[in-house]
Amino acid sequence: MGYKSLNIKMPTDYTEETLRYTIEKMILTSEFEFSIDKKSLDGRQKSNIHWLLRVSVSSKSIKGGDEPENSELEIPQVNTNKLVIVVGSGPAGFYSAYVLRKAGFRVRLIEQGPEVFQRIKDVKLFHKKRILNERSNYAFGEGGAGTFSDGKLTSRTKTIKLERKFIFNEYIEAGAPEEIRYLAKPHIGSNLLVKTARNLRTKFIDLGGEMLFDTEMTGINIQDGKVTFIETNKGQMDADYFVIASGHSSYPVYEMLIKSGVKFQTKPFAIGNRVEHTQEIINNAQWRTKELPGVKAADYAVTFNDASNPVYSFCMCPGGNVVSAPPTKGVNLVNGMSNYKRNYPFANSAIVAGLDLNKQLKRNVEPLEALDWVMGLERKFYDYVGGYDAPAVKVADFIEGKTTSTFPATSYPFDLITADMNELLPANIINSQKEALRKFNKQMLGFDQGILMGLESRTSSPIQADRSREGLCDGFSNLYFVGEGSGFSGGIVSSGADGIKAAIDIARQEV
Ligand SMILES: Cc1cc2nc3c(=O)[nH]c(=O)nc-3n(C[C@H](O)[C@H](O)[C@H](O)COP(=O)(O)OP(=O)(O)OC[C@H]3O[C@@H](n4cnc5c(N)ncnc54)[C@H](O)[C@@H]3O)c2cc1C
Repeated sequence: MGYKSLNIKMPTDYTEETLRYTIEKMILTSEFEFSIDKKSLDGRQKSNIHWLLRVSVSSKSIKGGDEPENSELEIPQVNTNKLVIVVGSGPAGFYSAYVLRKAGFRVRLIEQGPEVFQRIKDVKLFHKKRILNERSNYAFGEGGAGTFSDGKLTSRTKTIKLERKFIFNEYIEAGAPEEIRYLAKPHIGSNLLVKTARNLRTKFIDLGGEMLFDTEMTGINIQDGKVTFIETNKGQMDADYFVIASGHSSYPVYEMLIKSGVKFQTKPFAIGNRVEHTQEIINNAQWRTKELPGVKAADYAVTFNDASNPVYSFCMCPGGNVVSAPPTKGVNLVNGMSNYKRNYPFANSAIVAGLDLNKQLKRNVEPLEALDWVMGLERKFYDYVGGYDAPAVKVADFIEGKTTSTFPATSYPFDLITADMNELLPANIINSQKEALRKFNKQMLGFDQGILMGLESRTSSPIQADRSREGLCDGFSNLYFVGEGSGFSGGIVSSGADGIKAAIDIARQEV
């Protein structure tokens, strides 16, 4: 058996049959097996948009060639009765707990929110009656922010190849589409993520893992650089190791840890708005046509570095919807998501400006102050509209310093309220956004027809834990802080990988 890797250009609406036929013509035999390693859309020439595929082919007719590399994540196996408590069931906490259990530890995964189907009911109630459950919403509950995320599995981190492969395999076994293995921009979609969260939980429990819902960590007890137990609403819990994966929306956890002596630093982050267009505008701008057979919906990524604060698009959701995503009462913020089919008539993306609070406020800003600053902004948006309606302005009006009196239909579940963003966001952020939007409008026809809705404030944490290796908190021998809340990862895959690295680090200590 010989092996060959082929780079193939295919029309956007190719079928498995036409791909097979193309390979057959290239290797001059019909006796072969193939698998797709990579698939990306090449849209550089608008008149000739096509898929680029890298395909591994094996056949008796091929001479030589190397069998494709197939290395797997190695999980050290321990023989121990030691218990690890993991706090938070988002991607970081779940994958950490799952790998720890696979390594042989007793593992208890605690989550302040409910299981995922109760969570769906709570989110529906919020949409219908605006009643927010502070333990069960877009940020909190089984699967963490990851469950109601858009499910884009892109990650720019170069050092997590095996962790990434492990995470993708687990998602596929739990019901995610097989194509995430090779797509350059893999996407699961919020509707399928719910199912994968439930199936992953079942796998973890079948392995012997313990999972406690509605269980909130409220305190930690520290003695000589070691956490001896945590306090929860269900009583004290002691363990040998503790992995905290509470995400970046759980401000009470940050506060409790800082006050208990866990060290954090203020770090750069980003704030801004979410922009929504009709998907047709984006398709036309990117493809010069309303539809492209074989491709769901056009996306985009834009950046502008010439203003006082760099501005960029973030978490772009083609064929999706803007959601109201406050984790707690009294704050107002938005986010975006889409289902697997990406077939809603709208496209949205955060348009955020990078921000260093030490520079912004011209002094050293303590971590607790940084959290207060972000929450202050979120409260301002809440007070401006008296709830969860979204302060909004059309992009064209925003650029000209005007407000907008009437809005077209949008995907936002509540009302849009005419807003003067100057009253809500710092002047340098507004100015940077204006300059950037002028440029984005030149790059993408119709961009100024979009609507800006605020506030987008939770793209990443404003603070970062002091960690030594693989998530271990400085000055501690058994306390790990992983995932987006630690300030060291961003997104589903890098957060999951961060949790896995901590799990493997713990296992190595016990081998
Ligand atoms: C609407 C939306 C869309 C997104 N889209 C994408 C996307 O397309 N792609 C992508 O990569 N990322 C996306 N993200 C971001 C992604 O969801 C996060 O980066 C990721 O979930 C972070 O994982 P995590 O495990 O670190 O934390 P989280 O997922 O935030 O999980 C933390 C968990 O800890 C629990 N917890 C907190 N405090 C306590 C406590 N005291 N006791 C017990 N439990 C506690 C919380 O309830 C929560 O379930 C999106 C986020 C949102 C909100």
